[in-house]
Amino acid sequence: MSSIRYTVRFPRPSTHYAEIEAEFPTSGHPEIQLFMAVWTPGSYLVREYARHVEDVRAGNCPIVKTAKNRWTVETGGADRIHISYRVYCREMSVRTNWVEDTFALLNGAPTFLSLVGGRHLPHHVRLILPPEWKTSISGLPQTNLPHEYLAADYDTLVDSPILAGNPAVHTFDIDGIPHYLVNQGEEPVWDAARAVADLETIVRHYKSMWGSLPYDKYVFLNLITEAGGGLEHKNSMVIMTSRWSTSTRKAWCGWLSLASHEFFHVWNVKRLRPAELGPFDYEGENHTRSLWVAEGITDYYAPLALRRAGLITDAEYLNGPDGTGGLAGIIHALQTTPGRLVQSAELASFDAWIKLYRPDENSTNTTISYYTKGTVVAWLLDARLRVATGGAKSLDDLILLLYSRHSGETGFTPEQFKAAAEEVAGTSLRDFFHRTVETTEELDYAEALEHFGLRFHTASADGKTGEGKAWLGAETKVDNSRLLVTKILRGTPAHDAGLNVDDELLAIDDFRVRPGELAKRLENYKPGRQVSLLLARRDKLTRLDLTLGEEPGRLTLTSL
Ligand SMILES: [Zn+2]
Repeated sequence: MSSIRYTVRFPRPSTHYAEIEAEFPTSGHPEIQLFMAVWTPGSYLVREYARHVEDVRAGNCPIVKTAKNRWTVETGGADRIHISYRVYCREMSVRTNWVEDTFALLNGAPTFLSLVGGRHLPHHVRLILPPEWKTSISGLPQTNLPHEYLAADYDTLVDSPILAGNPAVHTFDIDGIPHYLVNQGEEPVWDAARAVADLETIVRHYKSMWGSLPYDKYVFLNLITEAGGGLEHKNSMVIMTSRWSTSTRKAWCGWLSLASHEFFHVWNVKRLRPAELGPFDYEGENHTRSLWVAEGITDYYAPLALRRAGLITDAEYLNGPDGTGGLAGIIHALQTTPGRLVQSAELASFDAWIKLYRPDENSTNTTISYYTKGTVVAWLLDARLRVATGGAKSLDDLILLLYSRHSGETGFTPEQFKAAAEEVAGTSLRDFFHRTVETTEELDYAEALEHFGLRFHTASADGKTGEGKAWLGAETKVDNSRLLVTKILRGTPAHDAGLNVDDELLAIDDFRVRPGELAKRLENYKPGRQVSLLLARRDKLTRLDLTLGEEPGRLTLTSL
């Protein structure tokens, strides 16, 4: 069978370039078309990867660029065509490329041109490493040649990031299946032994929850690069973290939650998926109303699995290690985001491409994250299923049922998800889904609180005196020694008084507010007090009268 072959070199890695030679079969056609993906599955934004591609050549064959991410090559009757190009690799994120003197992270979508109509073909990748680099690793199977990998098709190539350099590789086996923790940038301050032990606990927990491990090997690509984020793949993940993330309890819980989240995706998203997410259109947006399932349910289980596996405490699960996170922190975030009354969870999913991944100063007022709301809806749905069945069934039963039905060739539609939930509940959930995911109605927490034996507690914002804290409802930053407004929350004193983003705040009641001292100054006022603000708006001095509000208190969950 014909195949596509790539050779990737890093002749001067400190310049952040990968040089690629590719060989494509022509099947006897007088011309072939090549394309580059515009996005990476799992990260729902068109990123125009072709903008980092340079100097595309086809040997002696004429090649013409025909679209932002497409090229046409005249084959002159040749069986195979040789292409060469360079890719600039200097974006430190889980979905893009990074090349520097000590290592390379290559993702498939931003690296490999492929053949239009040839996605089903095997794609070989051979890496020629700088002499000082000894290791490469990927979820892809290796051929019998060093640093050569074989992707069964283009989807697998895109789903299999490759790391090369000299990373520390830690191995553990579960039921004979090898798992690799690959630490790029491991230093003595990063506690690798603890990470291996806790990852093993997480994997064992999910194996018992889902019934089996659906892969031959699994690779945790952990880039300790002072960056953040994670991206799921069928048999690997890329996560980015700080060298200090094993040093404090809060940071460690954060890393465990990230790893737990991406690992849950082995099942939810990479196998059990919304119908619209596959086969992917790599050259445009792929809209789905079900990202609240894909990400929200995953984010509900990520810390829940840690608690069930004994890696975090009940208190950490409910309120986070520092008392401002956990499930309560997510509910707090939802209930203090005005956009929850504007955008439903289903619409937030659909519009991920133009909204969630493209936030601006007004996003909090007009959008809600499907991660945030999806997590809260998952918790409410878990309670609904438990109450409806007298404790016999839970969200676990629903996702296992969905997995048994929709983890094959086709995914689930929103209607199939809801029908399966009703099947588990044994009753109609029409009103539940109408309220929680189809519309922007306020959520009702009473049933979940009662079932799980919890109640909300709202601490005063100052956390000490129990008195309310005076509040503008604006966020600010200090920029070049100026105190600038960066965000105005809808329905707050700042919003109602007409304060604008980019206004420079100079004084309150004619007393200068130095940059960095706004919070301290507001401690001298009580909610309800009218004040006069002196601002500079595009350098023109302006006064505004504003009645101070009360900062919303921090919501926590306590057991009854
Ligand atoms: Zn995710």
